Amino acid sequence: MTDWQHGFYKLSLAKRQQIVAHQFELTGNQQELLQRQVDGVNEQMVENYLTSFHLPEGIAVNLLVNQQKYVVPMVVEEPSVVAAASNGAKLVAKNGGFKVTSNKSMMIGQVVITDLKDVDETVHWLQQETIKILQVANQAKPSMQQRGGGATKLKIRTLKKDWLAIEISVDTGEAMGANGVNTMCEAVGHWLTDHGFNVLTAILSNFATQSLQTVTCAIKVIDLATDMMTGEQVAKKITQLSELAQVDPYRATTHNKGIMNGIDAAVIASGNDWRAIESGAHAYAAIDGAYKGLSTWQVENGYLNGTMTLPLSLGIVGGSIDIVPLVEVNQRMMAIESAVQLAQVIISVGLAQNLAALKALATNGIQAGHMELQYRSLAVAIGASESEVEQVVKQLKGIKHVDRNTATAVLNQLRKDKNNGRN
Ligand code: NDP
Repeated sequence: MTDWQHGFYKLSLAKRQQIVAHQFELTGNQQELLQRQVDGVNEQMVENYLTSFHLPEGIAVNLLVNQQKYVVPMVVEEPSVVAAASNGAKLVAKNGGFKVTSNKSMMIGQVVITDLKDVDETVHWLQQETIKILQVANQAKPSMQQRGGGATKLKIRTLKKDWLAIEISVDTGEAMGANGVNTMCEAVGHWLTDHGFNVLTAILSNFATQSLQTVTCAIKVIDLATDMMTGEQVAKKITQLSELAQVDPYRATTHNKGIMNGIDAAVIASGNDWRAIESGAHAYAAIDGAYKGLSTWQVENGYLNGTMTLPLSLGIVGGSIDIVPLVEVNQRMMAIESAVQLAQVIISVGLAQNLAALKALATNGIQAGHMELQYRSLAVAIGASESEVEQVVKQLKGIKHVDRNTATAVLNQLRKDKNNGRN
């Protein structure tokens, strides 16, 4: 560690920015950017705060879930994601929309005890102490029970021959509940330590298998037709792509990345913890031992049927939700009234995104739809001004092989022509 990092966390924001500017020889413009993007709320949220990193927010439209219409704010840096979600949603809305069923949202907290002399005897004792253990958990966070939730069930699982997991199911109400569940687990952990057990860890699990959402949709095969392909041809390719994601983890990973494009973007906009959702989704993708596509698509009686189940433990209160002002605006746009409703909408965005990606793959390929937005990003990346972007994109569309060099040449030529025109 170099000297300037020592005690960095104790410094004022202005001093931190000053030191960073000096250490990394930032230009005046770069220093000004750090200062311009400072946000008083964000400053309270992370340690060693330097500035705020902005991401674009767009809204996906056309979503119909359980007969209710939604618009969904999405925060994402990748071009085409919002457009694809809206397109997929429109196709499904035309066919009756998404149907989502949810099980009651419960979080799972784990307390792991090790080095047990007699596992069977411990299991027996823990079973007898179930009510007491739930009491200890609920006393650690009484507000949950007061709202009608709290710790309700206990499961004991053998992890290896002398290790046990005590798994507490907690109804966290309208919050995701990570902090509440952690508080409960730690209280149970201390109680077990007092009873002579070695507690290895006491923390929630993000594998939220008691917060499962299942989304389905059915699209008339004829609605999938394009200028070049019949609906049957498109549907057949989509089912084959679905099958591919079930048998090949290389394809499954990208299949799921497409789903998470939509889910993460909507989760971020809702102020929830997308790392928690990501880790749970990928664990669920491997639930039977092999990593597979999270969604599946099949053709039956003239319909393409899609389905997906995911653990989605989300909140409409708590964490950064109550802190980030834009989340309140986003909740208002979504007209969300409960955490379960939010999960239902977000899983539908995931399936809409998946449908759009599979349809593109089955027809024109992914790149065709992405090109204009990619050219736009490329134009910005090579330094085109707002007024130049449109012209650069227009010209790039007429070029066969576009890369950074060709784009730069286009921009330079454009500027030269403009200057000549002026002279
Ligand atoms: P909070 O710690 O903010 O707890 C929820 C808050 O909402 C509490 O203050 C609670 O009040 C209040 N609340 C108001 N109304 C309700 C209601 N109807 N139902 C439930 N709570 C209500 O957030 P969470 O416990 O939800 O934790 C989420 C945060 O934890 C996220 O920011 C996440 O990033 C972070 N985290 C995630 C971890 C993980 O996923 N592994 C680990 C650790 C943290 P009261 O206190 O009175 O009950």
